[in-house]
Amino acid sequence: MHNAKAYAAASATAPLASTTIARRDPTANDVQVEILFCGICHSDLHQARDEWHDMMPTVYPCVPGHEIVGRVTKVGSAVTKFKAGDLAGVGCMVDSDRTCPECKAGFEQFCNNMILTYNFPDKHTGSVTYGGYSDSIVVDENFVLKVPANLNLAGAAPLLCAGITTYSPMRHWGVGKGKKVGVVGLGGLGHMGVKFAHALGAHTVLFTTSPNKKEDALRLGADEVVISKNADEMNKHMGSFDFILDAVAADHDLNAYINLLARDGNITLVGAPPTPFQIAAFPLIFRRRSFSGSLIGGIAETQEMLDFCGKHNITSDVEVIPIQKVNEAYERMLKSDVKYRFSIDMASLKG
Ligand code: NAP
Ligand code: ZN
Repeated sequence: MHNAKAYAAASATAPLASTTIARRDPTANDVQVEILFCGICHSDLHQARDEWHDMMPTVYPCVPGHEIVGRVTKVGSAVTKFKAGDLAGVGCMVDSDRTCPECKAGFEQFCNNMILTYNFPDKHTGSVTYGGYSDSIVVDENFVLKVPANLNLAGAAPLLCAGITTYSPMRHWGVGKGKKVGVVGLGGLGHMGVKFAHALGAHTVLFTTSPNKKEDALRLGADEVVISKNADEMNKHMGSFDFILDAVAADHDLNAYINLLARDGNITLVGAPPTPFQIAAFPLIFRRRSFSGSLIGGIAETQEMLDFCGKHNITSDVEVIPIQKVNEAYERMLKSDVKYRFSIDMASLKG
């Protein structure tokens, strides 16, 4: 074991603060990564504040962070995919059983024994996993991604969660040319959703509660922007969407969006607010519409997404901050005041 510097929440109400954590020394299959940038996902805030208590209670201290980009510093004797000096990415998962049907099908995220990057049991240390708000991390090479060298690293970090979480359902539901696609909420996930829907060739409509984000949404690739609080604007799109991706972090009315779907249209939820939704029967049963969810994406698909981003030069629009501003960033994220992802420059942890 060795020590690593990190930022952790000591309780659901404590601000994140500097600390030292124990990491394992790399075993034969492990890659040790010096973390350069880590994105701030709204899931980090949900977990640091124990908002998902009923589903996955937070174990403290909690070191969040699952949008990790860095450089390999050390590899174990059996590692074949990475060598010291390589760029590397780590997303939301660091392990799974690799033998179940889900793993074999490339859906490690649905494996019953999947291990998330933080706040999950760590078989190596006997404690819980600690995430990317840290100077380094040690991960099995099968859960480490290759980051295209042409991408800006601060902007590439959020691809590891916000990127794959929006790319995966869009691929699954056939987003592409000739499709009308909606994205709800222009936050970290939503702005990646707009970029991917546009890059995949769909007619892309962004739904926002923030009128001041309209110009940005158009610049990011939206063909149209709808202010969701305006009933007239919403009504114009009634029954017309093939697919809608909902990336909102708070409670809101889903029925309003279900009504906008065409026959056989689908709305997929990736946002994970802690309170249950109320869904009316009639908007779903009329027109055979469907409502589903999606969780990040498998390792192979995450690599496919990174390669797609490398080819199309897609990164997240980031505001780079030092780790000392993480608590301020959380408060701003709650006010939808982020354009459009905070990316922590981990060099700030060294000072
Ligand atoms: P974020 O950056 O905070 O963005 C959320 C956006 O939702 C805001 O920018 C805002 O957009 C909109 N919004 C906020 N409050 C709202 C309200 N009361 N009513 C309507 N819209 C509201 O969050 P994020 O990091 O993108 O994450 C979004 C959600 O996805 C979180 O719940 C997170 O935990 C979850 N998540 C899920 C997965 C998965 O695998 N399924 C992966 C990562 C994250 P406008 O200003 O445009 O309205
Ligand atoms: Zn995330």
